[in-house]
Amino acid sequence: MGDTAHILVVERDAEERRRIAAAVSEGGWKVTEATTAATCLAVLRRNADVVVLLGLDTPDMDGRELLARMASAHPETPAVVVTAVDDVAVAIDAMRRGAWDYVVKRPDGRHLEDLRHVVARALERQALVRERNRYREEVEALAIALRGTTDGVAILEPLGRIAFVNRALAEAWKQPESAVVGRLLDEFVQVPGEAVALGDVLAAVAERGRWSGEVRTRGVEPPQGVWDVTLTPIACPEVVTGSAAGRSQTVVAIFRDMTDKAGLEQMRADFLSMITHDIKVPLTVILGYTEMLTDPEPPPDQIPPDILTRIRESGETIHALVCNFLDLSRIEAGRMSIDPRPVDPAAILAHAVEHYGSSARRKGLTLELETEPLPPLLVDEPQLDRVIANLLGNAIKYTPSGGRIMLSARLEGDDVALGFEDTGRGIPPDELPHLFEKYRRVREAKRTEGTGLGLFIAKTIVAAHGGDIRVESKVGSGSTFTILLPVKMPESMAARAAVG
Ligand code: ADP
Repeated sequence: MGDTAHILVVERDAEERRRIAAAVSEGGWKVTEATTAATCLAVLRRNADVVVLLGLDTPDMDGRELLARMASAHPETPAVVVTAVDDVAVAIDAMRRGAWDYVVKRPDGRHLEDLRHVVARALERQALVRERNRYREEVEALAIALRGTTDGVAILEPLGRIAFVNRALAEAWKQPESAVVGRLLDEFVQVPGEAVALGDVLAAVAERGRWSGEVRTRGVEPPQGVWDVTLTPIACPEVVTGSAAGRSQTVVAIFRDMTDKAGLEQMRADFLSMITHDIKVPLTVILGYTEMLTDPEPPPDQIPPDILTRIRESGETIHALVCNFLDLSRIEAGRMSIDPRPVDPAAILAHAVEHYGSSARRKGLTLELETEPLPPLLVDEPQLDRVIANLLGNAIKYTPSGGRIMLSARLEGDDVALGFEDTGRGIPPDELPHLFEKYRRVREAKRTEGTGLGLFIAKTIVAAHGGDIRVESKVGSGSTFTILLPVKMPESMAARAAVG
């Protein structure tokens, strides 16, 4: 509404209408006159920012009907009934239909003086109604945002009792929202390290105005349930001043899920300790045996007959690890290239069997090879060697003594299939879809050395040749990994290889 409010007087009696208009305009408002309900509704359609003073006996429509229409179409437009009908029942009915006020005409014209106050009151109430409606819209918009956001939001009463929680947070705590409200925040989360209690945190919020830090869901092991939380007090003027200053405030808590970050952090820590271990073990073997060999008077019966093979194998283990890292950085930088040349797949497998024969034998494993005549494959031989070494190495690593490993090469449609079948411990079905992810290691494997990079790299190398790796496994019985390589390399791959 502009500075000057606009008043519309709807009255069938011309004399009466003029008297009302004259009385109201003394209040400094702009006044328009109308005789019929139709004109009134037409004015409102153009601009509802008016106060309507209406009689109940408009010529074209019952005044109560007009009230009802205004209330439904223009709920923020004050409608004041000015009538000669001095009947409480009629007044109540009019109010029920949407009248904001009810003024009874007096023969002595006293009501005209009251009208100015009535209009002023209606305008005040209109301002309040508008403000309330605006707040209501804002609150609704906020509620929608809170419900929809993936961050967790909670409102805490003094002492940490939860007054509100949004769906994201309740779901993360695996509780319905109603089961969380009314309980203490302490029951769900804790600050890591026993030294800090949530009560202290809330006191710090009250004193210093804000707190940010990490909290963890109770009963859940990191990296799950790790949150970055910010606690902000809601500034209420009543509690900011006086003796209660800084105390007993309502606090808004925003929870940001840090599970992914904590997971990466954990992975990094696991990974570091793993590579340190994986390098240390073969290095100790190399150093120990070379010391024996360089000893001028070596204890004769302590030197194993295959000492040089063992040293070589330990060196190869470290070499493979370093190659894996180099490959990984090449893959991540998008710099992996292949140099394809024709090779005999059966010969490559035979060479691997020969190379790994001694470590399989030492572990008490039988290593067999089954091939059929095959066409040559166009592959990058050193890279394929690495893939084979990885799959065969895994079969040896994850198969207990007495087991059997069977390598095979055969034609499968347009592909050559290189199979690695073992009688090892197998892989749980829920791990299979993730097996080829970077750093992925099956939970039970964490006690065996390994970085979880081998299969990721193997799959990437095979994919670069236009092929794929398949795995079938049964816990307790064994696993079969199969490399599928197309006999005819796809044109696009060959072109890329040539450029690469
Ligand atoms: P790692 O260095 O841990 O061996 P890989 O990427 O080569 O990494 O293998 C990923 C995980 O897959 C291993 O940690 C192991 O749990 C599982 N795995 C791979 N091959 C076998 C197999 N032949 N038998 C059982 N588990 C296997």
